[in-house]
Amino acid sequence: MHVIVVGSGIAGLSAALTAAQTGAQVTVVERASEGEHGGNTRYTEAYLRMKSMDEVADDFIDHFMANAGGYTDPGIEQEMVRDHADWSPLARSQSMVDPDLLGAFADHAGSTLRWLEQAGLRFDFLPTAFITTTTTRLLPIGGGLAMVETLTQACKACGVTFRFETTARALLTRDNRVTGLATSNGDVSGDAVILACGGFEGNPEMLARYVGAPAINLRPVARGGHYNKGEGIRMALDIGAAPNGDFGSYHAEPIDPRSGLAEPAIFTFPYGVLVNKQGQRFTDEAPGTVDAHYENVTRRIYEQRDGIAWLIVDARIDDVPNWQKGSRTDQPPIKADSIEALAEKLDLPADALCETMARYNAACVEGAFKPLEKDGLATQGLTPPKSHWARPVDCAPFLAWPIISANVFTFGGLKVDRHARVIDQDGRAIPGLYAAGETMGIYYRTYTGSTSVLRGAVFGRQAALHASGRTQ
Ligand SMILES: Cc1cc2nc3c(=O)[nH]c(=O)nc-3n(C[C@H](O)[C@H](O)[C@H](O)COP(=O)(O)OP(=O)(O)OC[C@H]3O[C@@H](n4cnc5c(N)ncnc54)[C@H](O)[C@@H]3O)c2cc1C
Repeated sequence: MHVIVVGSGIAGLSAALTAAQTGAQVTVVERASEGEHGGNTRYTEAYLRMKSMDEVADDFIDHFMANAGGYTDPGIEQEMVRDHADWSPLARSQSMVDPDLLGAFADHAGSTLRWLEQAGLRFDFLPTAFITTTTTRLLPIGGGLAMVETLTQACKACGVTFRFETTARALLTRDNRVTGLATSNGDVSGDAVILACGGFEGNPEMLARYVGAPAINLRPVARGGHYNKGEGIRMALDIGAAPNGDFGSYHAEPIDPRSGLAEPAIFTFPYGVLVNKQGQRFTDEAPGTVDAHYENVTRRIYEQRDGIAWLIVDARIDDVPNWQKGSRTDQPPIKADSIEALAEKLDLPADALCETMARYNAACVEGAFKPLEKDGLATQGLTPPKSHWARPVDCAPFLAWPIISANVFTFGGLKVDRHARVIDQDGRAIPGLYAAGETMGIYYRTYTGSTSVLRGAVFGRQAALHASGRTQ
């Protein structure tokens, strides 16, 4: 049995190590050089939506189901309460999060983390960048980099062959079966191909085609995303795979565009005011806890002219304990002693900004400010409102940070089943073909946060177990 794995992030390395542990011969094909490999995984802290090492967070299933697709067809959904074997081809190939796949995801999360533990990783409930939270998050000690380095070593110790600086370009097929891979360094034959080569966040052409022309204002949240150019998705679609996931969308994160750090996130906007290039507010900065709402606020920023906004706070920001943990940029805030002076420094229309701030300040009311929990301290009579932590911003000095939307990863990918087999447009598993991690699509509308690394580990492992004949 020869298993070919494309990509060496969490999905590819989980697949490669699992396949090698079953005794298979394994080749990993990776675009980047050694030491630069690991895609997005290399740069993430890898929050995991777990409530313990063995169980997913309490809201895991509910959040996915609330974002399981578009306006899905109830007739097709009804089929999905039956045994998976009884689903029609339409149901099997339907673009949505199917309950069978989601159940497998939740069921295997704990055992996959225990397996990663055996491979040498350690996990703990470490502090996160979120000042207010709704759900529970476990972290690997050392983050995604530790995952990449530990699993790469473990793979090598099991005899996995790595072909770095080798790009997968197309699938080889015979009689509807995948038999190998065409790469930039020649063809590789195998019994199974596991596509774990990320989404298309590093491909401007696919971004413009699927996400739309304003995607010019998006950039990958870290260097690793630039390597993910969508070939895995395209080559499978080319041989008839069904699409899954929200092709027009992506996981959005608010970052300081001036910073070249990985993930220079600004999560402090709930304590200030967001304004666009016209000097106007455009969204509720604080609909709830920041972990649950930062993505939707970031989407509103992306919709503004040139996809940019500014966060403005005043000296009272220091009432938020340790607010700096939510401000991960290495660039200093722009400072001024008046709103007029700040407008000039930000190149915003001063009259409009002064009017915006005056209207906002006038809408703030007396009440208890509780920065570490939702305090309900909301504006009154203001559109759009600010629902929590609304205090006047009128106490110099004023500080401002520019914010754009980063593209953490794209949502559009391949339809897979609970074994990570790629499903074709007629609901059949394509023999010899699997997809895991970002290459499989499972997200719609709002990302179920802290589940993408987990998805890579779980379905990378499931793909390899099935390819090696270890699943019933
Ligand atoms: C800064 C940052 C913070 C994040 N925070 C979190 C978080 O806290 N929790 C969470 O769950 N998720 C988080 N994410 C998202 C998550 O890290 C990724 O979605 C996940 O790690 C992707 O894993 P993957 O294996 O699917 O892809 P990747 O890790 O991106 O690996 C893909 C690999 O495929 C290679 N490749 C691409 N195309 C080809 C090709 N044609 N041929 C050969 N090789 C190819 C790439 O070089 C890369 O090595 C974050 C991401 C970033 C960047």
